[in-house]
Amino acid sequence: MSNKDNKISWAKGSQGMLNLGHENFVRSDRVVAVMEATSLPMKRLRDRASQEGRLIDATAGRRTKSVLITDTQHVFLSALSPHTLQDRLLENDAFPNLASWNWRRESLPHKSQGAQPRLIIISAPSGAGKTTLCDLLLKDFSQIQQSVSTTTRPQRPHEINGQHYFFITSEEFEKKKLAGEFAEWAEVHGNFYGTRKQTVDDLLAAGKHVLFAIDVQGALNLKKLYPTRALLIFIHPPSIKELQNRLIQRKGDTPEAIAKRLQNAYTEISWSQKFDYQITNDDLKKAYQQLKDIIQRECQ
Ligand code: ADP
Ligand code: 5GP
Repeated sequence: MSNKDNKISWAKGSQGMLNLGHENFVRSDRVVAVMEATSLPMKRLRDRASQEGRLIDATAGRRTKSVLITDTQHVFLSALSPHTLQDRLLENDAFPNLASWNWRRESLPHKSQGAQPRLIIISAPSGAGKTTLCDLLLKDFSQIQQSVSTTTRPQRPHEINGQHYFFITSEEFEKKKLAGEFAEWAEVHGNFYGTRKQTVDDLLAAGKHVLFAIDVQGALNLKKLYPTRALLIFIHPPSIKELQNRLIQRKGDTPEAIAKRLQNAYTEISWSQKFDYQITNDDLKKAYQQLKDIIQRECQ
């Protein structure tokens, strides 16, 4: 790529187009896949595109790391890795639909491909149904195990210490935080929650995919820590009204806690574009099928 700072940039005066270098443009909402450049099928595709005059040659040669395929039939080359390139495309706001297109990741050969265990990270506003969906996954996939978080939140009547959470005091939490025991931690709805490093490392070492039902801050922090293993899935409620109904029906929180959780839902939803996949949990059966499809595609 010719850009000095190795970043894709907006092309001046070319609305909805990004400059990949040498004035080679990729059009808004037209990217259909971003692939590693090195595999044999990709080399063949590049050769064929070149012969047919469809190759937009931003970085021919050894620095080429990824190939962008567009539905205009043009093939673009880039010096950025596919993962970085995708992140940049998303950051640029020029591809508003990219995050919700499931095949985007499906068609990308993962660095973690093979039997490498993944971190399956599920976030959602409280009450959207992530616990329900995670419980179904755990029943169906023996190779997935859930990370049990540590929290300062009061234990709910049906919850079992060590199974749903490790319930500890704020003082104990602070000590663990200072000792560096958490891979990530966050203050959510006025309580502290954290994921123990040891839990994650033990499960990965045992060859298990690790399931997390954590908030958006925690999800993005884990992604930074485990960039190639993390798989981020966001669960949307069908509406805020339905979210409120579910929180009331669950009978686990005070009216004040419910109000706080509803208020926070708006911020959480605004982060959903950063996730690899998004599912709306309206009909539980349908939502679970979508989740299962993603897991089968990404983790097996
Ligand atoms: P979260 O873990 O995201 O806070 P839960 O899984 O506890 O959410 O779900 C909140 C409530 O909504 C629970 O009572 C659950 O049984 C119910 N629920 C989950 N999914 C659905 C759905 N698709 N339709 C109706 N109710 C649902
Ligand atoms: P709840 O109190 O309803 O069990 O959880 C409240 C919020 O805290 C949810 O969004 C849940 O996903 C999040 N949460 C639970 N455990 C963790 C954790 O270990 N880290 C982070 N960052 N959030 C968590």
